[in-house]
Amino acid sequence: MPRPEALEAPVETLAGVGPAVRRKLGRLGIATVGDLLAHRPRRYESAAEERTIAALFGEDEAVLDVVVRRASARRRGRLHILTAHVADETGEIRATWFNQPWLEPRLSPGTRVRMRGKPNRYGFQVSSFDLGDAIETADFAPVYPSTADLAQKTLRTLTESVLRLARDVGEPLPASVRSLAALPLRADAFVGIHRPSSEDAAERARRRLALDELLTLQLALRRRALERETLVAEPLPPAAELAARYRDVLPFTLTGAQERAIGEIDGDLARATPMQRLLQGDVGSGKTAVALYTLLRAVEAGRQGALMAPTETLAEQHYLTLEAICAELGVRVALLTSSLTARERRAAHQLVASGDVGIAVGTHALIQREVEFAALAVAVVDEQHRFGVEQRAALAEGRSPHVLHMTATPIPRTLALTVYGDLAVSEISAPPAERKPIVTAWVSEERSSEAYTRLCAHLDAGRQAYVVCPLVEGSETKLARAAEDEAARLRANELAGYRVGCVHGRLKTRERRAVMAAFTAGELDVLVATTVIEVGVDVPNATIMIVQEADRFGLAQLHQLRGRVGRGAEQSYCLLVSRHPDELSETATERLEAMVSTTDGFELAERDLEIRGEGQLVGARQSGLTDLHFTRLRADRDLLERAKELADDGVGEDFLADEVERLLGEAEHVGES
Ligand code: ADP
Ligand code: MG
Repeated sequence: MPRPEALEAPVETLAGVGPAVRRKLGRLGIATVGDLLAHRPRRYESAAEERTIAALFGEDEAVLDVVVRRASARRRGRLHILTAHVADETGEIRATWFNQPWLEPRLSPGTRVRMRGKPNRYGFQVSSFDLGDAIETADFAPVYPSTADLAQKTLRTLTESVLRLARDVGEPLPASVRSLAALPLRADAFVGIHRPSSEDAAERARRRLALDELLTLQLALRRRALERETLVAEPLPPAAELAARYRDVLPFTLTGAQERAIGEIDGDLARATPMQRLLQGDVGSGKTAVALYTLLRAVEAGRQGALMAPTETLAEQHYLTLEAICAELGVRVALLTSSLTARERRAAHQLVASGDVGIAVGTHALIQREVEFAALAVAVVDEQHRFGVEQRAALAEGRSPHVLHMTATPIPRTLALTVYGDLAVSEISAPPAERKPIVTAWVSEERSSEAYTRLCAHLDAGRQAYVVCPLVEGSETKLARAAEDEAARLRANELAGYRVGCVHGRLKTRERRAVMAAFTAGELDVLVATTVIEVGVDVPNATIMIVQEADRFGLAQLHQLRGRVGRGAEQSYCLLVSRHPDELSETATERLEAMVSTTDGFELAERDLEIRGEGQLVGARQSGLTDLHFTRLRADRDLLERAKELADDGVGEDFLADEVERLLGEAEHVGES
């Protein structure tokens, strides 16, 4: 009998896991032995050819069997570099390990090491190794998503030790379904992903687990859809005078794609069931104009709209954009953030509750928890990756608002329909016409001065620029201090003589607004910023961006950051600065290469799904799709279809009930943190 509770045991119960390892595993999202079992290798190493030092060639991967002559370590910034001179009968070479300080005392002269890696211009960069007589480096070995300070070897040993628990996972699929599609048992699949006999076996195992995962998702979506069918909304009368005036007031003509989305939204708003529509479009494609239209439709009907953003900065940014246009239209907008004083907040709540305010803008948390609307008819939810918020607090007289979800993390339309299941999808596929694609370059640290020279050339031509500070681990305060220090350093060095401002999450609202306003007005040349500028900031005259230590950011995050430039008609540039490629992890390299190769958000989203999983992305934003551990959306379309059919037949409903519940519960809490 399976004992699912065995999988709930914390990782500390395993031999070799103390507080330090537990913390490192925690950063990968691994807390229990079950999590460890579900930690999917990102690829497998097949046996590499064993060579002698003299026979190393080019950059070909190889295995060396050598003896340590001497070893030494040094630090460069955060990087710990361990170098060992190693030799075999044909010669000697310098081998390097990054961030594995614990290894130093074990590399005493005379120690035998088998190591796998690649020759590079410094010698030999080690990717995996065995001390003494083990032979793991030559096996068909899993390579796990990991952090710089957690060795593959540790993960391999730990996963090996939990494989015996695989039978405790149980089996949601009946034998009839399994045999029809020749699917392995779930338990065998868990063993198969960690210890496959071949690439094919690994892939079969992965697909089995992907099917379970997609089935869970489909069951959840089906439940959600059933619940929604019972909701009633206020149908809105057709667009009229205010909608027309809005088009007049806008400083541009809406694009065909924007008009198409608006048409679809108008259709939804006329119905007595609440709209549940996903508006997806790349960064800068012009979603906000569509969102404001939707909100104004509520106001026009004598009702209210709410715009919910994930962060305070974004809420403020939206407020400023909306307020400018709404003032011309005579529509009152209120901003609700936690930085209001108690008295300001009471006043704002009062205005919303009395109906004096037509549109309320705020964070998800505030609007959902605290605000009573006189007559909420439309809610726009920005950058909400999951199924979307529920409207608990927003319910008025048993009626639900029409909801528009906006996301700039697009996934292909057919997949969106399946993954979001119960949402209708509108897509803004083409940005406003006159934009030129942003030119992106990847520059290594030694040459960052050239990047600043380039940036200054833009400033001298009257343009503006962003410099994005490195992510630092730790509190928001620490991050803020690092940003301030960096701004001061740049003012004294690379950017001497220019007007440099700084924004970060620790500024008071008033201060942050003042800096942003000065930058927008052209009173600052450069904005040094943390990722608070990731979304929403919109200054068309800013044409160049430098992202420092770009290797530490996630792909979605880099794409969002890059979207801050290229907003006007000028050619824009994004310069990604990182350590030397030899010192980067494989996934960091893949991310930066992806950024250089395309500006297409859809393509990057797919690449991201392929690459993702590396734990060293401090502060990487969670998206709903991160929860798909095993699915590869592009390759698994057939599984999506199968999962849908199975869910319609109720297969696995009882077995997966808890997981479905958890998924729905999490979805509800998104945005409240
Ligand atoms: P998104 O929210 O999709 O990232 P925004 O709505 O912020 O994009 O729009 C990005 C920029 O494009 C803004 O400066 C906006 O004023 C401008 N814009 C939006 N629609 C159009 C349009 N139809 N023509 C020209 N510029 C537009
Ligand atoms: Mg936007």
